[in-house]
Amino acid sequence: MRVGLKTCEWERVGDGLVLVCDPSRSVELEDPEGQVEILLTVLRDRPGTAPQLRAALAAAGLDIGVDELAAALSALDDLRVLRDPDRPTDLDGAGRLFSNLAFFQLFSSLEVTDADLQRRVCDAHVLQLGVGGLGSNVLQSLAGLGVGRLTLLDNDEVEPRNLARQFLYREADLGTSKVHRAAAWVRDFHSGIRVDAVRRWVHGPDDLADLLPGVDLVVSGIDQGERIDSWVNEACMSAGVPWVRGGMTGSQLIYFSVDPGRSACYECRIHAYAAGQGSASTLSALSMAAQRLSARIPRANRANGPSAALVGSLVAFEALRYLTGYEPPYAAGADVLVDVAGGCTQRREPWPRNPDCPLCATATATTTATATTAAAPDAARTVAVAA
Ligand SMILES: [Zn+2]
Repeated sequence: MRVGLKTCEWERVGDGLVLVCDPSRSVELEDPEGQVEILLTVLRDRPGTAPQLRAALAAAGLDIGVDELAAALSALDDLRVLRDPDRPTDLDGAGRLFSNLAFFQLFSSLEVTDADLQRRVCDAHVLQLGVGGLGSNVLQSLAGLGVGRLTLLDNDEVEPRNLARQFLYREADLGTSKVHRAAAWVRDFHSGIRVDAVRRWVHGPDDLADLLPGVDLVVSGIDQGERIDSWVNEACMSAGVPWVRGGMTGSQLIYFSVDPGRSACYECRIHAYAAGQGSASTLSALSMAAQRLSARIPRANRANGPSAALVGSLVAFEALRYLTGYEPPYAAGADVLVDVAGGCTQRREPWPRNPDCPLCATATATTTATATTAAAPDAARTVAVAA
């Protein structure tokens, strides 16, 4: 394999280098002897195999052993600054995937290229529960990301009030089946996506079980009674399929995800709340009273267009983490709350795993992309080059 440098810029500051590849991030590298800079220069100007690189480095005055070069390249790869210039791809980078591939280039490595990350999306099958406020917004992101197969479930019809936040639907769709209209939208948008529409109510986990074989991820924005999340959780835990949930309560957007066998599950969340360990539970008398009063306020759907689009985008990002592993899931076993009355600031509140949870006890982790998650781009900052 030949190894080269992604498009990078660097500058010497004292005994170190400031290296920028992703324009929004910088990495500081120790380089008192100037050896790292020689290595970067060779990687930029003369991509090559390890022997070719060693020869080029020697010509530049840096004799480096086989193991030392391998270690230095590994450290640079952890920083996501290396590329294989010869890696073939069958994806059309100039077409509709252009922006997706450009995004994935920030997270690609020698082992997992941008095309590999995109292919994971193209090969994925997502089951989306609900194509209402959350779902219709998530759906547009998933289609744009190029998810290869979508199964959509909903039983509602398009109503005038939906038009404030569900931009898939038009006036002409009023009174028609949402899920069929949503599937038609996907087909119009991208004829290469396989999409199936399922119009049904969900009355328990069994109503989902037949849909889960072959599914890589479930996205839920379904609004159907208090127990729906428990049913989705039970079905997904049993099938070993991760799921992401999004919604809105009052002036807060919320999303969380469950990674079977790796994170706490939704039953653990219920247990944590009941034990006062969940979000918004500081156990003070005042906050407990506030929780009791909150539960008595009638629930109304207050999600306007920006709210639905924002939480839909955050859920789509979490879906992308599961599907590609470009970074670890952010909301696995945790509520992520967005306060729309506070400048849309976010906070993350994990809930603990219940050691007695019967669902977690038997859950097995699937081999999704999260098992091969990329290291954080700024995880390592030392690139040792021994002369
Ligand atoms: Zn659990």
